[in-house]
Amino acid sequence: MDQNKRYEFVLINANIHTLDPATPHATALASAGGRILAVGADADMLAIAARDMPNASILNLNGKTVLPGFIDSHTHFLAGGFSLQAVDLHGSNGPDDFVHRIATRAQVAAPGRWITGGGWDQETWADAPLPHKDWIDAFTDEIPVFVSRIDLHVGLANSAALRAAGITADTPDPVGGEIYRDPETKEPTGILKDAAIRMVEAAMPRPTAEEQGVALSLALKQAASHGVTSIHDVTDWGNPSWSEWALFQEFRRREDLTCRIYARLPLIDWDRRSADLPPFQTGPAADPWLRFGGLKGFTDGSLGGRTAYFFESYADAPGYCGLLQEEMLPEGAMERRIREADAAGIPVSVHAIGDRANSILLDIFDQVATVNGPRDRRPRVEHAQHLKERDIARMAQLGVIASIQPAHVIDDGGWAERRIGPERCRFTYAFRSLADAGVRLAGGSDWTVAPLDPLLGIHAAVNRNTADGRFPNGWHPEQKLTIAQAIDAFTIHAAYAEFAEAEKGSLSPGKFADLVVLSDDPYRVESSCIKDITILLTIAGGRVVYERP
Ligand SMILES: [Zn+2]
Repeated sequence: MDQNKRYEFVLINANIHTLDPATPHATALASAGGRILAVGADADMLAIAARDMPNASILNLNGKTVLPGFIDSHTHFLAGGFSLQAVDLHGSNGPDDFVHRIATRAQVAAPGRWITGGGWDQETWADAPLPHKDWIDAFTDEIPVFVSRIDLHVGLANSAALRAAGITADTPDPVGGEIYRDPETKEPTGILKDAAIRMVEAAMPRPTAEEQGVALSLALKQAASHGVTSIHDVTDWGNPSWSEWALFQEFRRREDLTCRIYARLPLIDWDRRSADLPPFQTGPAADPWLRFGGLKGFTDGSLGGRTAYFFESYADAPGYCGLLQEEMLPEGAMERRIREADAAGIPVSVHAIGDRANSILLDIFDQVATVNGPRDRRPRVEHAQHLKERDIARMAQLGVIASIQPAHVIDDGGWAERRIGPERCRFTYAFRSLADAGVRLAGGSDWTVAPLDPLLGIHAAVNRNTADGRFPNGWHPEQKLTIAQAIDAFTIHAAYAEFAEAEKGSLSPGKFADLVVLSDDPYRVESSCIKDITILLTIAGGRVVYERP
């Protein structure tokens, strides 16, 4: 089957999991006009084709498994596209490897262009030192370098980048951030946290429109190759202007989007830009490929960067509980912005990692619902990573959606206990407790933090293995999801989280013809083999957007 537009087709001899309780299993599916016409038995679908669809392609899948197209509920999509071209430090196994990868890149860097990228995680290195600008200055010279830690809340700048940002020994720490310094000379070490990272980002030349277009095209290809037909994006790269949103619109106009985008714009910009916001639309009136997905804010930072905000101190930093983000201050500002956006009918998603950040956010959601009155608002906590047990029931009661990124367990499970001790780890990535309490889980990757790969997320949610191999039966195995719960998170529940469960998330008549053909059936294989399943074919809106070569 070629990659030409193909708006009429019938799949037969397939193992279709529809995720539609009315017809959970089928062997055939008919599609026209980018939507699903009918699902059922081969003979019935072929009869429909003979009667109504004389030009339909008939595709015999030889028993292969079909699922609804995956929905990734948390991406930084354009940054992901850029990351495919940037220095990749994921899996770097120590300071030497880290330096080698950057030095190799510097040898081919274009003059005047920054080296960016990241993915390093010193927690996986033998003695876990934080990197230092001295490690790379000699190799990078006048080329500015800024490379993020795997969580994006901490990064290393070299001396050229610090100079470009005007950061010196005399620069005070910005509110909500930190400039690491040598204890004796007070000279910056190059390590920057949260708001301090913004200072370096502000000094980076903005990518040209052409460079952005290339990055988006790469990101769309990456999505299609992993069976992703919809994303919920955090559309904030390029702040303070909303250039990503404009780029998405341009691709939409040219009909170049091969993945549906639900774009969430920065909540922090509410006061300045609320008049510029597009209307929030759901249902048949909404653009099926590009929708404004409400506003996305932040309460705190990350566990790896010790900026997640907890009730009690970090186990490895006595007396220190983490940081609230700048946009949480002054007290009441976050609640007011969410309340005003909510009153305007705009849904909000808010990042919360530490247990105290999550608790504060639930207080805010509760308060907003009380003040503004009952409405189908589907508030979302992005990450919901460390929770007080009592807050799990509260999330269910408030109808709050947990937007989870299970693949983070693979990276974090090995060292989280050093950071916060064993007790708090019981409700870290507490997927099963959340599901059992009745909280809807929307699955995502947080690409670029983890790969844009729903099957990896499903594997992680079901197996909870860590990268260091220390937990063959899973890290906190009592928090494993069933395969059905994990697949629901990346399909029908993710659709609900974007108010689109009537349009996508299951293979039901009338819904978008967004589907994926898999090499094996994730419901039937040994759970340890889920990660080996490959994508054979991805169809979005009735069009083949990926076929395995
Ligand atoms: Zn994120």
